[in-house]
Amino acid sequence: MEKQDYKIHIVGAGVSGLIAATVLEQNGFSPIILEATERAGGRVKTDNINGYQLDQGFQVLLTAYPAAQKYLDYDSLELQHFLPGASIFKNGKQEVIGDPLRDASLLFSTLFANIGSVADKLKILKLNTSLKKKSIDEIFSDEAQTTFSYLTDLGFSSEIIDDFFTPFFSGIFLENKLETSSRMFEFVYKMFGEGDAAVPKGGMEEIPKQLVRQLQNTSINYNTAVASISEKEILLANGTKIESDFTIVATEPSQLIRNLKNQATEWHSCDTLYFETENRKINKKLIGLLPETDSLINNIFYPTSLETMVSGGKELLSVTVVNNNGITGKELVNRVQEELREYCGITSCTFLKHYHIPMSLPNLSQLQYEIPPSETRLTETIYLAGDVQLNGSLNAAMLAGESAAHGVLENLEGLFK
Ligand SMILES: Cc1cc2nc3c(=O)[nH]c(=O)nc-3n(C[C@H](O)[C@H](O)[C@H](O)COP(=O)(O)OP(=O)(O)OC[C@H]3O[C@@H](n4cnc5c(N)ncnc54)[C@H](O)[C@@H]3O)c2cc1C
Repeated sequence: MEKQDYKIHIVGAGVSGLIAATVLEQNGFSPIILEATERAGGRVKTDNINGYQLDQGFQVLLTAYPAAQKYLDYDSLELQHFLPGASIFKNGKQEVIGDPLRDASLLFSTLFANIGSVADKLKILKLNTSLKKKSIDEIFSDEAQTTFSYLTDLGFSSEIIDDFFTPFFSGIFLENKLETSSRMFEFVYKMFGEGDAAVPKGGMEEIPKQLVRQLQNTSINYNTAVASISEKEILLANGTKIESDFTIVATEPSQLIRNLKNQATEWHSCDTLYFETENRKINKKLIGLLPETDSLINNIFYPTSLETMVSGGKELLSVTVVNNNGITGKELVNRVQEELREYCGITSCTFLKHYHIPMSLPNLSQLQYEIPPSETRLTETIYLAGDVQLNGSLNAAMLAGESAAHGVLENLEGLFK
């Protein structure tokens, strides 16, 4: 049998499935992706509404991600970079803190910001240096603790933890107690120190779109939901049975594979709401944080502070709520608008769209950076990919897809020498 005759199916056209297809193609195979929805991207999607680019959930690409550097062409994504810092709304004031070594324009505001002590600011710089020297392997093999206890152990004051670390990392981990593993904290902190946070000019969905464009020998079947997967066979939701030599599951697998049924992943959810405003309260390309403990809003950002492909003429404001306390729909929109007024002085904004994303990031107890190809193998013919195998990030989604593809390749190795 020739390489291209193998029926290798990938379930899911998210970033992980697209990378699995890329690696299989690079090795001469012609995979088939089965995707439940009408387009690729999974959790990385952008809608065009009223002339604005609305990412389905506020998210960023960290340019230092090793896997992203390997698989993405940053130039043609026309990445728009954030400044390394944050604008913090506290007690009716707005203070900017950031990494002055990376962007000199943040030096004075950081030194004089009323956020944390001088000792805290020096510790932040020291942490940058020490994590630059620590390899990713070392980070992920170190003893894990919660991010909160890690920061306390490092001697950071409760002010800087409450006013900066908690809101900043709650927006990344999508949980606001900093219970996420210190491994993830160190990894993300290292990535922030070694590169930028960025969004493609056309919005985050340009990432999966680029991956799809790079595929030459892969067929993608959209609107094709898989109901279950067994050895050498896939059952579609419409009742069709498909023969499969190998199947890579690039999504949460517990509902699809019988003996994983009791291993469902828990998820962190979030809400992202978009508003149109006349002007911006944050002039620089910075995320805005709300450290107030009783606020629903975690962070705000003006996507129009970056260059975008299209523009609705005014400013676009995104608001992320990490814990909505059970408040939904119109009530959530009203509460968010009240808080924007109270904490940020944003008095007039027109509501555009609300995304509630129940399955945003997997809540995993054991975080890993990568997985050896052999460990992606569930059975002789079924392999597991997706960020759920490692940690909730684009980098992890890519590495898991790569590894599952290598798992299949290793299985076939002897046949094509
Ligand atoms: C709000 C939010 C913010 C985030 N912020 C960041 C960030 O700032 N930086 C970062 O690196 N990461 C961030 N992430 C995480 C990142 O988006 C994910 O880790 C990554 O997109 C996961 O990709 P994946 O391919 O593993 O899974 P998914 O994107 O979930 O892809 C799975 C695909 O499988 C399909 N599928 C599911 N079930 C079936 C079925 N039965 N049959 C057929 N197809 C099926 C789905 O439709 C989907 O297309 C964020 C995520 C969210 C939601």
